[in-house]
Amino acid sequence: MDITATIARHLAISPGWDALLATSESCAQASPDMIAEILGSAGRFAVERLAPLNAAADVTGCRLVDGRVITVPEHKAAWEEFCQGGWLMLDASPEIGGMGLPTALGNAVQEMMDRHCPAFGMMPVPSRAGARLIHAFADDGVREAWLPGLIDGTIGATICISEPDAGSDVRRLRTRGEKQTDGAWRVTGEKCWISFGDQDLTGAIAHLLLAKTAPEGQAPSPKDPISLFLVPSVEHGERAPIVVRRIEEKLGLHASPTCVMGFEGAPAYLLGEMGRGLQQLFVMITNMRLATGVMGLAVASRAAEIAYAYAAERRQGGHGPQAVTINEHADVRAQLLALSARVEPLRGLIFATANAADLARFTDDAGVKAQSEALAGWLLPIVKTLGGEVGFGVASDAIQVLGGAGYTREWPIEQGLRDARVLTVFEGTTGMQAQDITLRRLRAPGAAGYHAFLHAAREDAAKINHAGLNEALATFTATSEALIAADPATAEAGSTPFLTLAGVVATGWIAARLVAAEGDDPLSRQLAAAGHYALGDIAPRAALAAAQALMAAERVAGFGVMVEG
Ligand SMILES: Cc1cc2nc3c(=O)[nH]c(=O)nc-3n(C[C@H](O)[C@H](O)[C@H](O)COP(=O)(O)OP(=O)(O)OC[C@H]3O[C@@H](n4cnc5c(N)ncnc54)[C@H](O)[C@@H]3O)c2cc1C
Repeated sequence: MDITATIARHLAISPGWDALLATSESCAQASPDMIAEILGSAGRFAVERLAPLNAAADVTGCRLVDGRVITVPEHKAAWEEFCQGGWLMLDASPEIGGMGLPTALGNAVQEMMDRHCPAFGMMPVPSRAGARLIHAFADDGVREAWLPGLIDGTIGATICISEPDAGSDVRRLRTRGEKQTDGAWRVTGEKCWISFGDQDLTGAIAHLLLAKTAPEGQAPSPKDPISLFLVPSVEHGERAPIVVRRIEEKLGLHASPTCVMGFEGAPAYLLGEMGRGLQQLFVMITNMRLATGVMGLAVASRAAEIAYAYAAERRQGGHGPQAVTINEHADVRAQLLALSARVEPLRGLIFATANAADLARFTDDAGVKAQSEALAGWLLPIVKTLGGEVGFGVASDAIQVLGGAGYTREWPIEQGLRDARVLTVFEGTTGMQAQDITLRRLRAPGAAGYHAFLHAAREDAAKINHAGLNEALATFTATSEALIAADPATAEAGSTPFLTLAGVVATGWIAARLVAAEGDDPLSRQLAAAGHYALGDIAPRAALAAAQALMAAERVAGFGVMVEG
């Protein structure tokens, strides 16, 4: 399947797309011609510039020289070309110099890039998300000083949350922001695993950082609230006291330096309200979680594409004098279809999430706003997690299609597999996403996200009246109601399988839409086939996840004996 046409078709039939294009002139620019043009040139750039960078980076990696990070040689030229091509801020608001196109189209371009170099994609995502954050919370002076550079790519951004004792548990941060007698702020502490914590691609970096702050006039305490800062790496030509202590050696994403950073009294600007840092940072985190799903999709879609092409060439088996191509074997066909059945519904679900988030921002209709916000919130932990699982899982299954060749570096799938492994870890682990959807969304008073999803899914399910999907939705509602009624410990124990179940029915929803949108053209028939395949075993997949969710507390109750020996 042609990737550009496939993405364009997905966008056109994605839930909320038409309503979104009607919200503003800038969204309405996304005509089929414009989409084809943007995706076509993004694809060419990715193949010509990023694929070679990807291969080189895997061997070279980034280096720490005299305290500064040196990226892979081809990276700087690729970054500059990427920014000049206008891809960095396609979906940023026109108010800050972006094009104001729909986020889903920005995600589609990100997918085109990530298909050929996921590590490259680690750089623009915090810039884009950081620009939204600064736009939302910085005062005029900080906006004027930092937004133009972020928009044109001469300034980079990081998200600085993690610390040695504060990974999933952000409350345990030790980094502190301290107000000086002249009213300015300085930040001191250690942050770890910071992607692009330093680099040689941009002149300056805006570190968007969480730190504890003591209320005015009080002594510091570990219980102090968390505030949000912009910490410049360099300002007025002077480097800030920020040290890169180490670059981590890691499994994949070698063009993306993962840094341990020391902030040694670095000058900083408070963003927004003191004590509301984490809540505010969610403007950035939301975009980054969506982008994590996109990266998984990109790895998966590229791996599937390679597997299809390989299976059409590789000859083994058969009964005639010449071996047949392996895509003639029913088992290999089933393997290939299973790849598409995971990739295509995920792509549609990512666009559905992006459209819901955009509609919540742009619509003037209060009812649509509330419904869209709830739906986006419900889908986000699903696409973040599924993206990671599908990226790694499809890469692994595509290696199986290629046999021995897939395991070698001659093909880029093994690199994709390594790159994708972290996607269920960073930006909040699967466990954290599971608690988000189960404890904070399903069990919230009114469960608005759950109901918004059910409303949309039932409407589309009714169009195809598929027995398996109907059964899966019934299993999902029964399990949801049981977990709403359960005690908190039982709900928490079952949260990860519940997230799986929510992913099964969410992708089932999109599969139903792909089936319902089938026409006479080959592309829509192919997408419908992927949808049919995904729906084929949806009921037992839902039943398994439901059983695991409902029995989790009981099953792990005996675990103490394992831990205590
Ligand atoms: C390549 C890479 C890039 C990264 N980039 C950045 C970055 O740019 N900025 C940044 O701030 N961070 C970054 N991170 C850090 C990443 O976000 C953290 O690794 C992640 O949030 C998990 O934290 P942790 O590693 O401390 O795991 P932990 O929090 O120690 O979790 C370990 C396990 O315990 C589980 N767990 C933890 N707490 C609970 C609980 N309360 N209930 C149930 N289960 C629990 C988790 O789900 C997980 O399975 C990056 C990490 C990597 C590997």
